[in-house]
Amino acid sequence: MSTTLPTPGKVWLVGAGPGDPDLLTLRAARLVMNARLIVHDGLVDPAILALARPGAQLVSVAKSRSRHTLQQDEINALLVREALAGRDVVRLKGGDPFIFGRGGEEAEACRVAGVPVEVVPGISAAIGAAAAAQMPLTHRRSASVVSFVAGQCKGLSEQDWSGLAGKGRTLVIYMGLATSEAIAEKLIADGLSPEIPVAVVENATRPDMRVLRASLAGLPTLVTAHRVKSPALIVIGEVAGEPETDELRALALEALS
Ligand code: SAH
Repeated sequence: MSTTLPTPGKVWLVGAGPGDPDLLTLRAARLVMNARLIVHDGLVDPAILALARPGAQLVSVAKSRSRHTLQQDEINALLVREALAGRDVVRLKGGDPFIFGRGGEEAEACRVAGVPVEVVPGISAAIGAAAAAQMPLTHRRSASVVSFVAGQCKGLSEQDWSGLAGKGRTLVIYMGLATSEAIAEKLIADGLSPEIPVAVVENATRPDMRVLRASLAGLPTLVTAHRVKSPALIVIGEVAGEPETDELRALALEALS
């Protein structure tokens, strides 16, 4: 007796954006609303999961720095197993799947197993935070380069960030809260001015968003004094300073006179 294997389902790696459900792409929203199986990480806002239809199966594979419910290879195996059993899987990830989202590994695992995979981009936290805080990451006057880096403990000292921050440049650090002290020390040791502006954007695009400002030297104190919690981004560079509304108004008035 021969058994026929089911046609594999498809895996969609879907970016859920930084929180606000209105920032989902239409494609992401459609996939979430039609999915039978959603595998999501902890950063996905409950308001987005609430779009799933009744009866959809929601599987959380939330990770945190200290506690892993599922290791990455187990998540890869779960996606592949479900798809090979013939189910379509919406793998919903915070922000964009390919910015510090391990989407690359999940896509590889699918391809290796012969599972069709498609990637749906999302608004990455840096892009959402910049818009919500009205903090342009590039600006004709002050920044023509922007870099995204990961500030996790692992390998922080081995990472070479020299040249990524400073005059005319914006550095956005994901996952940098826990290591903010080491980050400030590292950048100052690399020659960055301790006075350069820093902004911390917590819960970007969500109702409880906070934007806190300091100098680079003051970053660790800012994080502890305000009890900043994850998820938060650290933005370093001139664009992170207080908006210069008064200065700009004076310039505009001068130009008019
Ligand atoms: N793929 C995601 C990033 C995942 S790494 C993206 O493209 O945005 C997780 C880190 O992203 C968090 O530690 C935090 O630094 C940042 N982050 C995610 N959502 C955020 C939010 N709403 N506000 C501030 N930072 C956020």
